[in-house]
Amino acid sequence: MRKDTLIIHAGAHPDPSTGAIMTPIFQTSTYVQEAPGVNKGFEYARSQNPTRQALEEAFAQIEGGRYGLAFSSGVAATDAVLRLLSPGDEVICGNDMYGGTYRLFTKVYERFGLKFHYVNTQEVGQIEAAINERTRLIWIETPTNPLMNITDIAAVVTIARKHPDILVTVDNTFASPYLQNPLKLGADIVMHSATKYLGGHSDVIQGALMLNDAALRERLYFIQKSCGAVPGPMDCFLVLRGIKTLHVRMERHCANGERIAHWLRAHSKVDRVYWPGFTDHPNHDIARAQMRGFGGMISFTLKDESTEAAMNVLSSTKVFSLAESLGGVESLINHPATMTHASIPREERLKNGLSDGLIRLSVGIEDVEDLIEDLGQAIG
Ligand SMILES: *Cc1c(COP(=O)(O)O)cnc(C)c1O
Repeated sequence: MRKDTLIIHAGAHPDPSTGAIMTPIFQTSTYVQEAPGVNKGFEYARSQNPTRQALEEAFAQIEGGRYGLAFSSGVAATDAVLRLLSPGDEVICGNDMYGGTYRLFTKVYERFGLKFHYVNTQEVGQIEAAINERTRLIWIETPTNPLMNITDIAAVVTIARKHPDILVTVDNTFASPYLQNPLKLGADIVMHSATKYLGGHSDVIQGALMLNDAALRERLYFIQKSCGAVPGPMDCFLVLRGIKTLHVRMERHCANGERIAHWLRAHSKVDRVYWPGFTDHPNHDIARAQMRGFGGMISFTLKDESTEAAMNVLSSTKVFSLAESLGGVESLINHPATMTHASIPREERLKNGLSDGLIRLSVGIEDVEDLIEDLGQAIG
């Protein structure tokens, strides 16, 4: 089945009791058993729910993996991966990750004895140099949020495979499964904030893990049911429904993103534009090789570096809404320094190029002329 057909049919089976084409929302906490231990494969909804099962099957199929697991948020999915580790284990990860991932690593897991090495993952040599006998996980985000840095997934996998105990996990939220499939490049686990492009309509918080290895799937399923960060059936239904239009939404996100990235770059008041589709983006060739398109996420700075100038733009757009999050049908504008990445200390941020004046756009699927007009009047 080709990708665009698969995205619509993934995980979908007519409901056996009625023939309903859409997977019903099984809003139940428990299942009646015929006799103790005699059941239809469903005992208690933290462990099994048919709506969630359909979604998890869809997750696996759209990433080109064998298994999918749904969590109550993207952060909960990340948390589940970290629970595979033990005190003393070490993790190598990027130095410009999503702020919530950074917060989970530094504020929660460091206290439990995990050690994190923050490196520039665009240079895979830095990853290799940080590996030692206690390294158990390499955590990659590509493109990164919000600086759109690109890491060579296949090259990281090649390095990790020299060590039998190292898992490679890729946060694939920005690309979505439509634009990039890290499992096919050899990654062990793919993580998504399904809140973003998978749900696609800014109406649900959810996370996903996709993977190929059966034993690893058992360990993560054990964590999912034991720690309990499962999504409810209504949320699973919303994401199942969102996925059905992933391909058409992503095509428009990419087209609108490309137009706006070039428009911004040509604007006299705009300084830098961060978008992996530019041929002079530092890792453009890698992006081109591992992605089918460059998505709708763009960051930029103004020539006037004052925070005030950025604040002016942020509070002047009318079609772009000032909000955290991304990947929905509607366009959003965001100030990473005070919003999505406020949990990263300022010195850390600045060191890694995330300036106070950086503005991030999640380009939606509206008419691109309206979006350009709106940015035009806001930038002035
Ligand atoms: C939003 C986001 C997350 C966290 O997901 P939630 O659903 O908000 O918990 C993780 N990684 C990236 C890249 C994100 O954008």
